[in-house]
Amino acid sequence: MNTTIKAYGAKDSKADLKPLDIERRACGDDDVKIDITYCGVCHSDIHTVRNDWKNSRYPVVPGHEIIGRVIETGKNVTKFKEGDLVGVGCMVDSCQECSACKEDLEQFCEEGMVGTYNGKDKHLGGHTFGGYSTSVVVNKEFVLNIPENIDEKGAAPLLCAGITTWSPLCKWNVKEGDKVGVIGLGGLGHMGVKFANALGAHVVMITTSPDKAKDAKALGAHEVLISKNEDDMKKHSNSFDFILNTIPVGHEMDPYIGLLKRDATMVLVGAVEPLKPFHGGGLILGRKRIAGSLIGGIKETQEMLDFCGEHNIVSDIEVIDMKDINNAYERIIDSDVKYRFVIDMASLKN
Ligand code: NAP
Ligand code: ZN
Repeated sequence: MNTTIKAYGAKDSKADLKPLDIERRACGDDDVKIDITYCGVCHSDIHTVRNDWKNSRYPVVPGHEIIGRVIETGKNVTKFKEGDLVGVGCMVDSCQECSACKEDLEQFCEEGMVGTYNGKDKHLGGHTFGGYSTSVVVNKEFVLNIPENIDEKGAAPLLCAGITTWSPLCKWNVKEGDKVGVIGLGGLGHMGVKFANALGAHVVMITTSPDKAKDAKALGAHEVLISKNEDDMKKHSNSFDFILNTIPVGHEMDPYIGLLKRDATMVLVGAVEPLKPFHGGGLILGRKRIAGSLIGGIKETQEMLDFCGEHNIVSDIEVIDMKDINNAYERIIDSDVKYRFVIDMASLKN
């Protein structure tokens, strides 16, 4: 039987998030039902609530950094049992048959992956609702094991901020001694710094906020570069092996392209919108590259979580009650997040 549960969502692009009831499907043979304990707050949640990408379906119930405990499993589920600590990230389904899915790249499923929220709900019709809610039912292939030794709350952001930064660092083979820049010290950026440091790179935090310099170093940056300071930017020109760019909006590209070494790559993960025009010469005179990256596949996400278990890596978080979400959104927009908000879902249950 379907159940009606408590959630928080927005009824249109101008509305604050408010309590609302949603339906969850009954736990099917291939499903895992999860009692949600914590959910991280990603900038993508805000983009979707505010319809920045012009594809939002309302009401929007965001949340794709879900942590919880298994409360029920379908009869075909062997990998999970009641009581297990598990996670759900940005996807809850994909075709499992196309070439992308077969290569463990479900995020690029040729049929279109089903987003944890704002996706097409194959079971109930309508669209999917995310983790700002008390429970969720998810196909077993999209449920992840969370190592029991890491802090449960701090693990939530690994499901999106973690994998989105881990995947390009691995794909572009960042290794010991590489000079790696991470642009933007927010949710994604702070995980990028931690991972690049753990992989042995020389990490430079590239930020617009001088007051974050001390934190950047504590998170694992060896140097801090204030992007508004042209002299400092010049000192680092043509010197980076790799740059991870997490800026959430369209922006000037030339200053950052100028930082890359010959043949080096800057990967965009933040700006899912038009960029300001940039000069072709900046790329041509140095055979430089700009690329993009989208979260990561399920296998890679599990590898990242296992790495975090081994190296005891979690996010630096501020825990909030569900009712404080609208204020948290304002702080994220103001680049005042240290460095990920995580909602304590007990505050919605009680
Ligand atoms: P966030 O916590 O808000 O962090 C973004 C940071 O970027 C800010 O804290 C700020 O850092 C910097 N910044 C903001 N506006 C800027 C501007 N106009 N120019 C230069 N720097 C600016 O956001 P997030 O949750 O990390 O997400 C970042 C972006 O990635 C969002 O657009 C999100 O939708 C997207 N995203 C993409 C994927 C993917 O798979 N590709 C996955 C998740 C999220 P400083 O104060 O240090 O400058
Ligand atoms: Zn996200």
